[in-house]
Amino acid sequence: MKNSELLASVRDVSTENEFFSPIPKGYRKGKTRYIIVLGTVMSGLGKGIFSSCLAKLMQDKGLKVTPIKLEGYLNIDSGTLNPFRHGEVFVLDDGMECDMDLGTYERMLDQNLSGANFATSGQIFKSVLFKERHGDYLGRDVQMIPHVTGEVKLKLRQLAMDSDADIVFVEIGGTVGDLENAYYIEAMRELAYEEGPNSCCFVALTYILEPKTLGEQKSKAAQLGIKQLMQTGIQPDIIACRASNPVGETARQKISVYSNVPLQRVFSMHDSESIYMIPSALRESGIDFEVLKLLKIEDRTDLRKERRAWAKWSDFTDRIYTENCKVTIGITGKYTSVRDSYASIINALEHAGIWLGCKVNIKWIDTTNITDQNIAEHLKDVDGIIVPGGFGTRGTEGKISCVRYARENNLPYLGLCLGFQMAVIEFARNVCGLKNANSTEIVPDTPYPVIDILPEQKQIEGLGGNMRLGGKDIELKPDTLAHKLFGEQDIVRLRFRHRYEVDPKYIDRLEEAGLVFSGKAPNQPIMQILELPDHPFFMGTQSHPCLTSRPLRPQPMFVGLVASAIKKTHPENPDVLETVNKICHHAAKTT
Ligand code: GLN
Repeated sequence: MKNSELLASVRDVSTENEFFSPIPKGYRKGKTRYIIVLGTVMSGLGKGIFSSCLAKLMQDKGLKVTPIKLEGYLNIDSGTLNPFRHGEVFVLDDGMECDMDLGTYERMLDQNLSGANFATSGQIFKSVLFKERHGDYLGRDVQMIPHVTGEVKLKLRQLAMDSDADIVFVEIGGTVGDLENAYYIEAMRELAYEEGPNSCCFVALTYILEPKTLGEQKSKAAQLGIKQLMQTGIQPDIIACRASNPVGETARQKISVYSNVPLQRVFSMHDSESIYMIPSALRESGIDFEVLKLLKIEDRTDLRKERRAWAKWSDFTDRIYTENCKVTIGITGKYTSVRDSYASIINALEHAGIWLGCKVNIKWIDTTNITDQNIAEHLKDVDGIIVPGGFGTRGTEGKISCVRYARENNLPYLGLCLGFQMAVIEFARNVCGLKNANSTEIVPDTPYPVIDILPEQKQIEGLGGNMRLGGKDIELKPDTLAHKLFGEQDIVRLRFRHRYEVDPKYIDRLEEAGLVFSGKAPNQPIMQILELPDHPFFMGTQSHPCLTSRPLRPQPMFVGLVASAIKKTHPENPDVLETVNKICHHAAKTT
């Protein structure tokens, strides 16, 4: 938030009562209900997945929903977090760098989110401290309660008002008992008290252990975790039990007795082969009706809308297990040991595969030791390859070898951000003859800096915040693969997160040698998509198209890559463009 926006938010709140609970002007109590999702026992339970699936069920019923993730860490955003430790950095259209869970919500709800859907302790404290300096707390000592918790409630109510939502889904990061999240939980207790009965529904996710040596499900850790939640003054309304296998009646009964939650509201949420099967599993369990009853909003639902939405969703999920073929896509990257670092790419491939009726296997390729000499061995069993985004120098020469191999051997190639830059470097070196061409990020004094820091970013270098971030328009060149892949639209919008780009000085030279820049920023010489005309599928983009792939709207570049991998292994299949058009654009044109 900019300072002017912070000030506006200060002016618009009423802080008259003793409890200091700032409420935005115009806020209507009761209009928006809140579903608060917390985790007990351990982190990594899939709170975001659960919450987004439940939100989808509510959205399908015609209710307006919006999520917010509350993170305990002090970073202002996720931009500086290492994906190896924390999963991928997801970028929203407005440029907010946030937690990967926001990606799960965007995909499940097919909805673009913004910075208003993401808060960190860093943001909350920054705003409280700003207001303190501005003299807004009127002689009071500024405290965790009520001022910091007040700031959290203000953020939620502001979101409720601005989004006009029927339900705000609040996901609290971490686990109950973490010091850094404790004030969020206290803020939720206060919120439920202030908003009144039936305004908030607390859902506790917990974990049921099943030690191999015992061969039975044990609920003690779950009971203790829930007890810890109840000690904060919060009575859960619903308990979702995570486990590898369906949670049996005995374990559910024990949890019910110890937590005061009726048995019909203690649900099993066991592992599922695909996240996209979870909404129907939740629906079958009846959790959606329990939520509607608890929040007393049955009358806001629309059965006809629900029937239509459900038919569309079922059409998609029915395809999940209809796999007519198999392909293997290699993904190079240095975070190959942590799949979360590439969550959106994995999802985008899954979407493409489901629509194409094809099982997409992923082969992770560590490029650290790859050279032009051993590359054929590493890529011998892949049908297509993705070089994803990344920062720093490690493994870049190996990635360039991958690009070269794909280019020379007609192997379908998709380069994402850094993978686009690697393709430019490879082409400059091996086709244009610019020996040792490189990016100045990798070799600052390279003789041919074909990739260099953005001219406009150069001026702010060293001041921080010098990334080109968020959704940007791309102008597509007619009669190119990109133009056709996107259904002949002239402008498309994708998301970006980069500092470096093709140095405009080299554009003519690269194009004269046969590289086609088929997408660029309108009115700016920033190259955003490249392709090679005499190749079955060779495409790079400075953007991250995986961030906007949705289950019901698979991303054309990913569908194109997988379709051409299928074509390579099963030549009898229809033409790649025809397939992409049918899957990605036909529906849009005819409805
Ligand atoms: N490191 C490159 C840049 O900053 C690529 C970034 C990325 O792949 N996200 O431009």
